[in-house]
Amino acid sequence: MKGPAKLFVKSFGCQMNVYDSQRMADTLAPQGYAETAAAEDADLIILNTCHIREKAAEKVYSELGRMRRLKEAAAADGRRVLIAVAGCVAQAEGEEIVRRAPAVDVVVGSQNYHRLPDLIARAKSGGHAVDTDFPLDDKFERLAAPSRAKTRARGVTAFVTVQEGCDKFCTFCVVPFTRGVETSRPVEKIVAEAEQLAGAGVREITLIGQNVNAYHGAGANGSARSLAQLLERVAQVRGIERLRYATSHPLDMDDALIAAHRDLPALMPQLHLPVQSGSDRILAAMNRRHTRADYLDLISRLRESRPDMALTSDFIVGFPGETESDFAATLRLAEEAGFAGAFSFKYSPRPGTRGAEMADQMDETEKSERLYRLQEAIERSQAAFNRGCVGRTLDVLFERPGRYPEQIVGRSPYLQPVQIEAPASMIGEIAPVTITEVASNSLFGALEPCSVSSPCNGEVGEPTGPARSGRPDDRHSEPGGGQTPPRTAVGGSTLPFQGRDKTASVGA
Ligand code: SAM
Ligand code: SF4
Repeated sequence: MKGPAKLFVKSFGCQMNVYDSQRMADTLAPQGYAETAAAEDADLIILNTCHIREKAAEKVYSELGRMRRLKEAAAADGRRVLIAVAGCVAQAEGEEIVRRAPAVDVVVGSQNYHRLPDLIARAKSGGHAVDTDFPLDDKFERLAAPSRAKTRARGVTAFVTVQEGCDKFCTFCVVPFTRGVETSRPVEKIVAEAEQLAGAGVREITLIGQNVNAYHGAGANGSARSLAQLLERVAQVRGIERLRYATSHPLDMDDALIAAHRDLPALMPQLHLPVQSGSDRILAAMNRRHTRADYLDLISRLRESRPDMALTSDFIVGFPGETESDFAATLRLAEEAGFAGAFSFKYSPRPGTRGAEMADQMDETEKSERLYRLQEAIERSQAAFNRGCVGRTLDVLFERPGRYPEQIVGRSPYLQPVQIEAPASMIGEIAPVTITEVASNSLFGALEPCSVSSPCNGEVGEPTGPARSGRPDDRHSEPGGGQTPPRTAVGGSTLPFQGRDKTASVGA
């Protein structure tokens, strides 16, 4: 008897796509699709794509070449495979994808995932199905929720999309074109999702959005709530011990949100706050609407509110017209801000954006050279931040087994991966760990003898001397702390984004 149809989903880009990919799989589960990690076994392949930089978009076409070969091999065996392209490349290029890659059966824009079952049915009955409208119906209302078992299998941390789209129109960025205008989900829908996640064992939620701190969703009485209010409400969900949010724009960091980092114990002392450039001239050309001084003032207010705050950032080098002195200002900012990590990218002109039309586009070699210098500064800053954790006792949420027997991996409050020797039965628990060593992206430590969960207060613990730690001989073998799960975020491993020119951030 033939088993269930198999679905392979590959996500490119940011954590919003990771979340969307899961929701697509959830929506297709009642249609009989079971997920597989092997593309060659799949009956339906979905590539959930990213358009933020040219390199990210081109990657999709090379991946489509590989998927076409799988589809042809399956056809030779008498098996029909459908290929769907979702996400921002789908939204931006629509029909053009089918012209460039005729093996594609379905193209679905980022607002239309709830229509996937229909689109697949149409493609099955012959021809291509393309849907890149910005519909009036709310996809979140129509997307199926995951089963409890599926949520459990996805681990003890989860993303929840609370906001989509962006109205800021930074001159380098395609997001306002691919994700549309800014919208926020109502508070109670988010709370219901958080309760369902908590019920399945999730302990940490990251609220995500393209511009998450512009959140202004309706509260129970219909009036708009801010992100600070939303965080306060989600923190009341039983079982949710930790909250984070990403990605934020400096302009939308209001006083209430800054105060929440002091007042809300569940809110982790970690924030991804992209600055993009340290030059006022370039910030103005980017339409960021804040200055270097505004940004520095903001991070000092954040540190007043929460002194141990781990700040990470995004930088773009080689924006049109960036002079050596503009770049020097960026480098100084990266050196002065004390970042716990940052993503840095070479500027990539994107079709339809104002930046792409600007004169003085820079030479790629010069961009690469500046990127290299910036990344050296970021790495120094990150290493200093990580070194500062040695000897401290940090509360770690254990997320998954490590590479070795008896090794487990979790996250510090600052989103750094932390590896220790402990039984897998501790996965899902939060326990104090004394940090004994650091590698480029990971910390190593030992459980405190009395491993009782307690909120991280950022205080420096007493050094405890040598202790049990993750495999000392191997721990430096994988730059980037090869144990980091594919969340990104924030500068986080999640932070946010995969496919970056370089990630050098906490937890990233
Ligand atoms: N909303 C966030 C903010 O306001 O900073 C950023 C979200 S964007 C999806 C993620 C990062 O991609 C940006 O912070 C920026 O550093 C980078 N990025 C966006 N467009 C880019 C481009 N055209 N070239 C290079 N990097 C880009
Ligand atoms: Fe893009 Fe962020 Fe600017 Fe919006 S605020 S246009 S998402 S970089």
